[in-house]
Amino acid sequence: GKIFNFESTDTICAYCGVGCNVELYKDKNNNLVMARGIDKEPNNGRLCVKGRYGYEYVNSNERLTTPLIKENGVFREATWEEAIDYTAKRLLEIKEKYGPDAIGVLGSARCTNEDNYIVQKFARAVIGTNNIDHCARLCHASTVAGLGKALGAGAATNPIDDIKNADVMFVIGSNTTETHPVIAQFIKENKKKRGAKLIVCDPRNIDLAQYADIFIQHYPGTDVALLNGMMKVIVDNGLIDKEFIENHTEGFEDLLKVLKNYDLDKVSKITGVDKKLIESAAITYAKGPNSMIFYTMGITQHHVGVDNVLSIANLALITGHIGKVGNGIDPLRGQANVQGACDVGALPDVYTGYQKVTDETVRKKFEEFWKVKLPDKVGYAVSQFGDLALDGKLKAVYAMGENPLVTEADVRHVKEGFEKLEFLAVQDIFLSETAQIADVVFPAKAAYEKFGTFTNTERRVQLLKPARTPHPNVKDDWEIVCEVATKMGYPMHYKDAEEIWEEIREVTPSFKGITYKRLKENSLQWPCPDITHPGTKILHYGGNFKRPNSKALITGVEFEPPVEIPDNEYPFVLTTGRILFHYHSRNETRRVKVLESFVPENFVEINPEDAEALNIKDGDNVKVKTRRGEIVVKAKISQKPKKGVVFVSFHFSEANANILTINALDPVARIPEYKACACAIEKI
Ligand code: SF4
Repeated sequence: GKIFNFESTDTICAYCGVGCNVELYKDKNNNLVMARGIDKEPNNGRLCVKGRYGYEYVNSNERLTTPLIKENGVFREATWEEAIDYTAKRLLEIKEKYGPDAIGVLGSARCTNEDNYIVQKFARAVIGTNNIDHCARLCHASTVAGLGKALGAGAATNPIDDIKNADVMFVIGSNTTETHPVIAQFIKENKKKRGAKLIVCDPRNIDLAQYADIFIQHYPGTDVALLNGMMKVIVDNGLIDKEFIENHTEGFEDLLKVLKNYDLDKVSKITGVDKKLIESAAITYAKGPNSMIFYTMGITQHHVGVDNVLSIANLALITGHIGKVGNGIDPLRGQANVQGACDVGALPDVYTGYQKVTDETVRKKFEEFWKVKLPDKVGYAVSQFGDLALDGKLKAVYAMGENPLVTEADVRHVKEGFEKLEFLAVQDIFLSETAQIADVVFPAKAAYEKFGTFTNTERRVQLLKPARTPHPNVKDDWEIVCEVATKMGYPMHYKDAEEIWEEIREVTPSFKGITYKRLKENSLQWPCPDITHPGTKILHYGGNFKRPNSKALITGVEFEPPVEIPDNEYPFVLTTGRILFHYHSRNETRRVKVLESFVPENFVEINPEDAEALNIKDGDNVKVKTRRGEIVVKAKISQKPKKGVVFVSFHFSEANANILTINALDPVARIPEYKACACAIEKI
């Protein structure tokens, strides 16, 4: 349509995993100037502040528009041919000298499915390594592993639209108002319109807690104890769903043995929560009758992230609150296409559709299809790249649009590692912190300039269309990778994103029925096995799990405290997270005036009692210090954190929370413990 001579395009918001449909308007100078929500699923016309105003970065004159090559420590402008030739040559040399596993490749949750499919194919078929990963490692790697183990699929079970059918909404470790704002609106609406009950569990007194019937403020990293305590109450009160457990699960006995040790006195002591609250949360959730669970990084970003996810699955399984309308588990996926980047195989252990690289039959299928011998060993995770580079095991990284030098835990250590690399190539839209130390930088199109698909948090595949004409010298991310691959001797030629999607369909049973033609009419939720299939709204419907005998697995999980617990030297628990107005390493939102004006600098939230004891006033400069490093930020005295807990947002490279965080990894998911480490606070 047209408004004031502005031309509009229907596309998908490029920020978070809600995947809101948005109409973007451009003016006659090709600048994006306005956004409006589209009245269809999943957002039904709604947008949050980032969707409404956050497009401005695309117009920025700081956008990269020419390839750069570093010479004697400084960048010089280069032609595409030079930059591609140089990159191909360096990668081939490093592969020859140290072997393919000395190279790491990064996909991106902000790039399309097609971009990510191509970059994982590049890693595997061209370089010859499974060292391909992306930032899902830092957000829902625990979900992919945990729900995968328990239910047979590591994805959200129910659509966003199903929120309105839940009688009880159990939100744990998710500051939904700030991280998935449109979903938070649906949660609040369900409460207001239908009187649905809301249980919120979070170490911070977040916005959603103000709407909660029951608010549990537990210590960071005590989720397993809390959930075990709730399950013990459910078992002791005879509120389990015996029939569901018998017919659709295995392993319940294993859980019962563990729960014996989780009486409420013990759980209350570990979590710092009143017994009565835990009891009433348990009974309310179990009684439903329809109960849904929502969680995010508060659950996943721990060295016990997988255990936390398994406990969530246990809770839903023993009460039978799964596989039905209004009953399920929705891990809210973080970035716009983090679900999709996982689905198309930008992970070190799986190809598209979670087909394992270690499964010989699967590997053979891809070898025949790609006409190349493929590596059979699971690759390194991005959370290991820093250490591996420092140890000299990783010599080169090819990054498609991620910014690990801001986002990795214990980031100084990671930076040291990346600086030791013999070669680093980065594709991006801005000269990010990671691009600044690269040897080659390629200018890429922004999501609002691309054709392709994104997959949102509810497995919904949606079409992306360019809302403005890109600069003539920038390219699609997939196109850049294909040019490097071709130069390296493995020709990769596609005429457009649709041709890539067709290849994805051919090798991925769960996407077979999804075509661009169908997507032009309507989005579709995978699995969608054939072209007459309507897509799958609810996973595991009727308790039919994608595991042996169709039974879900219940696993008894013991509580383990965070790796670093407070002591005299570092007496506080530091927890980190996102805020509404910014996004990840802030390369985009810092270039959006409205968003930047709301929160232009980092801060540390301190409970009033702790602040008084330290003689700190609101707005004072304070030093936040951990065993890894320190930052100076303004103090924000706030009732949000529990006494003994402080919060720092992770968006600001200028005062980076990840200088403080600990790279203690979950042994299975290899996700760092961003949500809990010990810190000290000093007034300066
Ligand atoms: Fe964009 Fe997420 Fe906001 Fe929707 S909720 S407008 S997808 S940032």
